[in-house]
Amino acid sequence: MQKRFKTKQINVGGVLVGGDAPISVQSMTFSKTRDVKATVEQIKRVEKAGCDIVRAAVPDYEDAYALKEIKLQISIPLVADIHFNYRLALIAAEVVDCIRINPGNIGSKERVKEVVKACKERDIPVRIGINGGSLEKEFENRYGNTPKGMVESALYNIKYLEDLDFTNIKISLKASDAARTVEAYRTLRSLIEYPFHLGVTEAGTLFHSTIKSSIALGSLLLDGIGDTMRVSITGELEKEIEVARAILKDSGRAKDGVNIISCPTCGRIQANLVTAVKEIEEKTAHIKTPLNISVMGCAVNAIGEAKEADVAIAFGNKSGLIIKKGEIIAKLDEKNLVERFLEEVEMEASKEKNSD
Ligand code: SF4
Repeated sequence: MQKRFKTKQINVGGVLVGGDAPISVQSMTFSKTRDVKATVEQIKRVEKAGCDIVRAAVPDYEDAYALKEIKLQISIPLVADIHFNYRLALIAAEVVDCIRINPGNIGSKERVKEVVKACKERDIPVRIGINGGSLEKEFENRYGNTPKGMVESALYNIKYLEDLDFTNIKISLKASDAARTVEAYRTLRSLIEYPFHLGVTEAGTLFHSTIKSSIALGSLLLDGIGDTMRVSITGELEKEIEVARAILKDSGRAKDGVNIISCPTCGRIQANLVTAVKEIEEKTAHIKTPLNISVMGCAVNAIGEAKEADVAIAFGNKSGLIIKKGEIIAKLDEKNLVERFLEEVEMEASKEKNSD
């Protein structure tokens, strides 16, 4: 795995993004932002699911004025997502923790200057959010909806802000497929030092987005690219966080929580492994300590996997073994295995936690 690319660090409402800060996870509300109650309710849901930073669309004045009340009722940083209308950005900049805006869409330099001034006054960053499907006309005409077009648009927008002596910036380069998304981020990475917000735009439903995002974000994370990220899933909130956290963990960029190794089952299976793994997954979801646990359906691979695991189960015929750090510590009836296994996992988790 590549070393993480060293980026400039920025502060989004208390969450550090870039540098050596942990890679944060973001989501976006889909209520009308002017509906404060619904928006706050959605933000609280994503926060509970483990979201670090949340974004809300601000298409109109009513939405912009609602941000103040929303901010009062939530505790994670809020990003205002704004297109075209610089006045909305000025209203939002008074209360939110970051503005997502593309300076090239805002119109005259004077207008961008005002937005920059407002962001400087409150020391809040700007996310330049390039989407392949909505490039500025000049880039679309010249390059089409291509990684090259996205990168050129990003460089143009970055320069817009740098010319105004503003460098409190993070960048996203989202296309609706994994290949273009990855190529755009990879191309831009060596050209600038600003932190990257990773994502695939319009990624689709839970199934398709999970696959696209795993390919794209997983590839980039393995390359050492990425400082904050969102998995966008049509109509889902908690799932966005769950999938993003899983991508972070399975790409090796986040260590917290339990990593479950379970066999796919086959004709040698001698137990109801599917039910057991499901129960174990649910009952260990709260654990933050990094632990490898393995649950195997028979002895064939169990001992090998158990050597690498903190706690393991090897199911046998109506019975099974509990193995800790490669040592067999108990042989039990199948009906008692999962309960004892969970006790051992909890014990291991608190031991590791106390030794931190
Ligand atoms: S561990 Fe045993 S039951 Fe599970 S897939 Fe391997 S051989 Fe089959």
